[in-house]
Amino acid sequence: MNMKTLREYIKDAEEKKVAIGHFNISDSEGFKAVVESAKELGVPVIIGVSEGERDFIGVDEVRAMVDAERFKEYPVFINADHTYSVEKVKEAVDAGFDAVIIDGAKLSFEENVKLTKEAVMYAKSKNPEIIVEAELGFIGQSSKIIDAVPDGVSVETETKPEDAEKFINETGIDMFAPSVGNIHGMVKTGEPKLNIELIKAIHERVRIPLVLHGASGNSDEEVRAAIGAGISIVHINTEIRLAYKQGVEEGMKLDEVAPYKFMAEGVEEMKKVVTAKLKLFNKI
Ligand SMILES: [Zn+2]
Repeated sequence: MNMKTLREYIKDAEEKKVAIGHFNISDSEGFKAVVESAKELGVPVIIGVSEGERDFIGVDEVRAMVDAERFKEYPVFINADHTYSVEKVKEAVDAGFDAVIIDGAKLSFEENVKLTKEAVMYAKSKNPEIIVEAELGFIGQSSKIIDAVPDGVSVETETKPEDAEKFINETGIDMFAPSVGNIHGMVKTGEPKLNIELIKAIHERVRIPLVLHGASGNSDEEVRAAIGAGISIVHINTEIRLAYKQGVEEGMKLDEVAPYKFMAEGVEEMKKVVTAKLKLFNKI
């Protein structure tokens, strides 16, 4: 596979009306599961690490794992998922990440613009090629199974196309994550439906790629429709975490002390989820 830049892969995805998969990991087992799945299908992939995940795996360590794949010319990219402070943005930018998300979705419009602008300015001054993503419209912050739709998330907090346009113009971001009925984490009582018409309206109004967060728990049909409406990257976290835990629980029942044997069960379960999602996103 000929290596292009992440920006080029995203452009390709937009043109082909497919989406690149973004999967969160916490450790090398997660990395192995995501990269092996992508390689088996021959598609580019983005590894996501949130602030908590970065603290656990190590910013430089995860960057080094990605570099090892890039050295072999395989398109694996690394994104600093949900970053809440400029300090943490700096850490990821300085470590050479391909992309970073500054998350001010919980703030007021003005405060969100201010924080995002600051992050964009730092990131671009260090690495003009870096992709900065930001969010407008709160969609919760969990990556767990939650009892109900989180407080502060409702139809009213869905992103209005005119606000999206204004936000993007004022901040200079490269990618945008709207609130379109998506929720972080998985809701026990059932996920709210994605607002496909709103995705379409935002996509028509703004000229930068759109990212769907919190897609764990949404049906294949909905995700397919969202990609058709203009989503270029889809984030999955909670479903992989669940699969990992269930796999490891099976691994623990084995009469084994070799970690590469009992942890392998967790990797296999994660691979099933990642492979199914990649097939869906890439129309394979
Ligand atoms: Zn997210």
